[in-house]
Amino acid sequence: MPHSTQSCDARGAMTRSLPTVGAAYVVEAGWVLSWDRGRPALLRDAHVVVSQGRIADVRAGAFDGDLPRIAVPGDILLPGFISGHTHVASGTPTRGVIEGDGTSRPSAHLVEALSDDELDDLTAYNLAEILRAGCTTQLEMSQSLRQAESYLRVAVKWGVRGYPGGMIPATPRVDTIWARQDDAVLYDSVPATLREIEANRQFGLRHMNAGDGLIKPMLAPHATDTHTPETMRAMKAAALELGTGLHFHIAQSTIETERVRRLWGMTPVAWLESLGMAEGPLFGAHMSALDWASDPAIFNKMGGVYVHCPSAGGAGGATQPYPEALGAGMNVNIGLDTHSNDYVENLKLAVIAGRARSSLLAASHPGPLAMPTIEDAVAGATTVAAKGLGRDDIGRIAPGAWADFSTIDISGFLVGAGALPPEPLHNLLYANGLSVRHVATAGRFQVFDGRLVVADQDEVVRRGGAVVRKVWAALGAQGRFGGVPPIGAGETV
Ligand SMILES: [Zn+2]
Repeated sequence: MPHSTQSCDARGAMTRSLPTVGAAYVVEAGWVLSWDRGRPALLRDAHVVVSQGRIADVRAGAFDGDLPRIAVPGDILLPGFISGHTHVASGTPTRGVIEGDGTSRPSAHLVEALSDDELDDLTAYNLAEILRAGCTTQLEMSQSLRQAESYLRVAVKWGVRGYPGGMIPATPRVDTIWARQDDAVLYDSVPATLREIEANRQFGLRHMNAGDGLIKPMLAPHATDTHTPETMRAMKAAALELGTGLHFHIAQSTIETERVRRLWGMTPVAWLESLGMAEGPLFGAHMSALDWASDPAIFNKMGGVYVHCPSAGGAGGATQPYPEALGAGMNVNIGLDTHSNDYVENLKLAVIAGRARSSLLAASHPGPLAMPTIEDAVAGATTVAAKGLGRDDIGRIAPGAWADFSTIDISGFLVGAGALPPEPLHNLLYANGLSVRHVATAGRFQVFDGRLVVADQDEVVRRGGAVVRKVWAALGAQGRFGGVPPIGAGETV
């Protein structure tokens, strides 16, 4: 029975029922990626005991006791993935759209114009997908504080672990500052940006440790070229007060890097360091336009984590400097950004596109290059991100840590070989989010046997689909689909 998903009670009676929330249980898995004496360790035919939301024990062999048990002998049990960069509500409105003309901004504006109820439906759909693929923690840069409030409502209801903040400046105000031709636009934006910082500070203070401690708001500045020293100082002060650090887009294009050089005389990373922006966690997404000679050492000294987002440009978008960053000894997490919510797919893309990029750049990159491995990607998704957040209680399967985990079928069709494989992480390179079977955060199952169990999955899909149809209809009316609204736009589902 390599693919059993059944649970059974102490006497071995098979059931398909979820463990009661808060009750102790044991998961018996074909492989467990555990954390043992400061290192990852693969345990074969192992079990994980969960009690009061935390991992109580991890051992090889069958469990000898009388707890409800969930047997997944064809699966690997992994720590819940941590995405260091997401914009949750923006995922589905841009998927399959950005691949056209390469921009997601029209969709972003339409999302921001939705009602709170519509935003919640969209957030729920996207967060359901993110959970479905095994990602249990998100550093969430919502495109506005309204969207951060929406994320918070859904995340608290479903027991998701998150570090939400509204992007500063928010959509749509950010667009004119970001696309400016004249820096007067930046200087004129300071008073409104300071008001946004204050509003985000208030959001952070109000919701810190919401959802029984799962929610820890974090400041999420848009980028280094949409801020001035004055707004940076205000964000530093707010970040220190909240104690959760900063989550930026950093050096995401040569335009950003050149602007910061022109205005402040140094690279974005060096500018952040000169402003003392590293007194807490620091996560930087994209970082495509680093100065490889100097920036990695500065960023490492700041304790920063580079968030590599393999599908940031949509499917087939430009590759990002994962091999360069690993080669330079940077701490690298894998982030979802937008478009794809499939964390497993993004792990694969990081490795596959990274290896291709490494080969192609071998003769021209001035610094060291690494050939990324799935072990690099999984470490980035778990322990590297947790360490960057200053936490040793998530991102690892070890006694005392929170029971944030997923199990992934690595033995069945297309991913496995009809038997438990000997090098299970390698089989993740053939998996995707639909291979994920069970997902739990702090011991609470959110996905069980491949279905969302914290809400009615069909209802989440129906409502999320209705909102995205509205977005498509508006994009169609703008001529984004050849001037013809997509078939079915405007119908109620
Ligand atoms: Zn982003």
